[in-house]
Amino acid sequence: MTTTEATTGVTAGRLSLAAPQPLLIGGEEVRAARTFPAVDPSTGRVWAQVAEGTAGDVDRAVAAARSAFDTWRRTSLDTRQALLWAVAERLTQDAGRWPALLATENGRAIREGGLIDVPTAAEIFRFFSGVVRDLHGRTVPCGPGAHVSTTPRPLGVVAAIIPWNSPLISVAHKLAPALAAGNTVVVKPSELASVSTVEFVRLVQDLFPPGVVNVVTGFGPEAGHALVSHPDVAKVSFTGGTETGRRILGGVSERLVPALMELGGKGAMVVCPDADLDTVTEDVLTGVFAANGEVCFASSRLMVHRDRHEELLERVVARAESIVVGDALDPATQLGPLVTAGHRDLVAARVRAALSEGAGLRAGGHVPEMPGELAGGSYYRPTVLASPDGTTSASCEEFFGPVLTVESWTSEEEVVERANRVAFGLANGVWSTDLAQAYRLADRLDSGMVWINTWFATPLGQPQGGVKASGFGREGATSTLLEYTSTKVVHASLDTARPPMWT
Ligand code: NDP
Repeated sequence: MTTTEATTGVTAGRLSLAAPQPLLIGGEEVRAARTFPAVDPSTGRVWAQVAEGTAGDVDRAVAAARSAFDTWRRTSLDTRQALLWAVAERLTQDAGRWPALLATENGRAIREGGLIDVPTAAEIFRFFSGVVRDLHGRTVPCGPGAHVSTTPRPLGVVAAIIPWNSPLISVAHKLAPALAAGNTVVVKPSELASVSTVEFVRLVQDLFPPGVVNVVTGFGPEAGHALVSHPDVAKVSFTGGTETGRRILGGVSERLVPALMELGGKGAMVVCPDADLDTVTEDVLTGVFAANGEVCFASSRLMVHRDRHEELLERVVARAESIVVGDALDPATQLGPLVTAGHRDLVAARVRAALSEGAGLRAGGHVPEMPGELAGGSYYRPTVLASPDGTTSASCEEFFGPVLTVESWTSEEEVVERANRVAFGLANGVWSTDLAQAYRLADRLDSGMVWINTWFATPLGQPQGGVKASGFGREGATSTLLEYTSTKVVHASLDTARPPMWT
């Protein structure tokens, strides 16, 4: 550790759960035959034991969800509205214990849980509690001889597969719309962040009839695979990496089951010559270093007009070097450890590859020395790479860590072509005080979302999701309800006249 690098101290009072976590099936807490350890990334120590669900457990969970479906699909919209609101209330009342739990689970700085994850998860339930009252079909004008109406129908049992980086928000994005639309759910959280999902469903499951919400923890290739390939699953809703998404889609396509895919991203921030660099600098820091950079929306590629390139690069480097890296449980920490040592090593390997291809190291790029028990954690300094012409792998790979690549451009044509060259298409951004230029660029960037003069703004109601290798389907919006329904048509003839085909 050099003297300029800031780290936080060691925090006392770490979480440690004595009892192994159960599976949650049919409203019951079920002990698994085997458990696996949950590791605190701040120290590398085991802090909980998670149930290792099997294909048999998945079978039982899907059966419980299947039998609860017939009751749940018939609940009135006002009942569903009230229950989804009650979930948000419970979470809000219980808000105090979540930041430490979330920070222990995946290493994100504790300040983020209370500021972002808990209120956002509650807000997602409140949003769908409101929009569920607008779940309705339509009549289709087909002339005086017929009355044609459509009704949105729930699909059945939804398999919800979620990643480790923002588990509370991810589980809310799956559960709230699926339940609002009348489906029942089996959730499989990531093996790296299972405890928060189990604890969340434990907190709220008594609000629902048994079997409406179930959780099977375990490993992706076993419990996850058994769930997405179960014959009684009617929809797969997946958030995770693009490769896993492809594998899952291959399986569900055989059974013709619909899927929602929220996959990876490689966000570009395009900065025009007239941009306000004070605002841009704050947005860059938030965009790439919030949540340790382990976010699908991360702005890992900063593309600056050549007139402002050096100035902005210097500002960002100075700020990155002063970021406080440390124990996720310390309120002073700005950037915690990455989720595992293996993931940290992967991020470091990607940085080394970019450097060997010609990128320049401007900040970070190494594992900091940490004191005491933090020496066992998986820390990595916030890293800034200069790759002005965007030709290294750093410009197209998803790091999923605190690594920013800075590029330079001269014409709109060039920046659009380079930004769109990546496989992903989740979120991009444009910074300019010239709105005509900002909208022109926004229109040409290939992504599900484009922010203008901001980053990470995802108010409920604004659809979230990607194109290309970032997947398909939209979360967080009124239209999300339709992702969890199919349209049923009833066509009633009001006329006895028939065409003379058989006379
Ligand atoms: P993974 O794709 O490795 O895992 C996601 C989930 O899929 C986990 O629950 C995992 O379980 C499970 N899984 C793994 N293999 C299978 C399988 N064969 N069948 C069924 N389920 C399986 O992603 P990560 O958890 O590592 O998350 C990081 C990725 O998620 C990044 O690429 C990121 O971009 C993306 N992401 C996208 C978001 C979006 O909204 N677009 C939001 C957040 C993340 P297990 O952990 O036990 O292996």
